[in-house]
Amino acid sequence: MHMEDIILENGIKVPKIGLGMWDAYGDEASEAVSTALKLGYRRVDTAMFYKNEPEVGRGIRMSGIPREEIFVSTKIWFTDMEVDKVRTTFEKSLDNLQLDYIDMYMLHWPMGDVAGSWTVLEELYEEGKVKSIGVCNFQKHHMEALLKTAKIKPMINQIESHPTFSQNDLVCYCQEQGIQPEAWSPLGRGDDLNHPVIREIAQRYGKTTAQIILRWHMQRGMTAIPKSVKEHRMIENASIFDFRLTDDEMEVILAQETGIPRGGYRDGYTWE
Ligand code: NDP
Repeated sequence: MHMEDIILENGIKVPKIGLGMWDAYGDEASEAVSTALKLGYRRVDTAMFYKNEPEVGRGIRMSGIPREEIFVSTKIWFTDMEVDKVRTTFEKSLDNLQLDYIDMYMLHWPMGDVAGSWTVLEELYEEGKVKSIGVCNFQKHHMEALLKTAKIKPMINQIESHPTFSQNDLVCYCQEQGIQPEAWSPLGRGDDLNHPVIREIAQRYGKTTAQIILRWHMQRGMTAIPKSVKEHRMIENASIFDFRLTDDEMEVILAQETGIPRGGYRDGYTWE
């Protein structure tokens, strides 16, 4: 499997496509992680909130792939985002995953004590317990508020993004700031796969609609973490580096914006 990487601001390499792990549990989750890694995936995304860190960790061990070749991200839920709770919550994630470091530790939502929690992530980064630190679901104003107090800029902002809800202005803002934008629900949780405009482009290339959407994310300069527990879909979702959409096709897909999010979306919160 041919997989491309991007380099974060701090020089850390991240595969452009990773395996999302929300809503996968038990043996199915472990098997999915192990299968993906054996296929050539080198990025796995989980969160304490997903209640599958132990299974993800087990899948990593089952794969037999050396730990240092794998980029693992997990996240702290907002109810644990208090200065005194962040470190113990992080240690719990390490214990769940049975790992001694995390590649990317993220604030899951811009809620709770964001500025205070970020200082603890900075400490964990400086101590080498996490190789990079990031945020999720930050709108521009959340990022501007955090950047007023942060010593270290988030390296990734993981946001909902797919053709019918692209958050394109936010993607461009992150890129201007040197913060890697990453698409969660990159396929619209499956809902964008039957979009007629995308179906038409897929036919043109002899590709699936998932491949067209993921290729579109790649050409926007994003990383993406499509979730699948099915081997054939994992292969399909990563087989997107052998063709190129035209500028017109990129624009046409972007024009399918509806402004309607598929998953959770909270704006307006600020801790300034
Ligand atoms: P996705 O857009 O990745 O869609 C996943 C759904 O699409 C699943 O039902 C999957 O089913 C199906 N699917 C995957 N590939 C294909 C394919 N090629 N053809 C047809 N169907 C397909 O949605 P998610 O919401 O799971 O987002 C991806 C990841 O993003 C999450 O798993 C999680 O890691 C992360 N995330 C982060 C959030 C945050 O707040 N930071 C919020 C939400 C998600 P099946 O498994 O049966 O193949």
